[in-house]
Amino acid sequence: MAGTNVVWSDGYVRPDEFEKRSGQKGCILWLTGLSASGKSTIARELERTLFERGRNVFVLDGDNIRHGLNKDLGFSPEAREENIRRIGEVAKLFRQSGAIAITAFISPYRKDRDGVRAMLDPGRFLEVYVKADIETCKKRDPKGLYEKAMQGKIPEFTGVSAPYEAPDHPELILDTAVLSVKESVTRILEMLEQSGIVSDSERPND
Ligand code: ADP
Repeated sequence: MAGTNVVWSDGYVRPDEFEKRSGQKGCILWLTGLSASGKSTIARELERTLFERGRNVFVLDGDNIRHGLNKDLGFSPEAREENIRRIGEVAKLFRQSGAIAITAFISPYRKDRDGVRAMLDPGRFLEVYVKADIETCKKRDPKGLYEKAMQGKIPEFTGVSAPYEAPDHPELILDTAVLSVKESVTRILEMLEQSGIVSDSERPND
């Protein structure tokens, strides 16, 4: 808990000034879904596309964060909750800087995702359910994790020995068993336009 002598301090540059300069609205694009559903792949491709278009964008990725910021956390329900809470706080800082923060974490619990949503102004948390059925994920298994989990070598593996709670009202659902990576990226770009996060006419580098 923050001590009583810790006081929140606003900077001299307001969030709306950052946004005006970068010509976009800061937001968190929260990708959630089973391991191997395609979150990282879509996040990276989307980051590249937005970057090419002169956008201020950055991906926070599951494995990378667990190597650093959250290396003290395991996979119990409590540790997963804390994992998501910290990522939410970091992503919120990116949002305040005017960036589009793309997060790519399984984030299996609805309550934890809704907790991050509650930290942001309406319209600045866009939840994308990267939905691939478990059989598709097991078949892809790019890191061989399902194989290990099914052999009992990874305890509390989401979709095998730990639950995944699908979002009730995500802003977007991408069924990656049907959509190509490119199609998924296009759908997200359309959503960003429709929700006013980016607008073609305001593209800074055009
Ligand atoms: P996650 O981040 O959800 O664990 P990854 O993106 O790391 O998933 O892995 C998904 C794997 O599935 C990658 O190897 C990717 O190339 C592959 N893949 C095959 N088809 C698709 C698709 N339509 N959308 C996303 N990923 C796909």
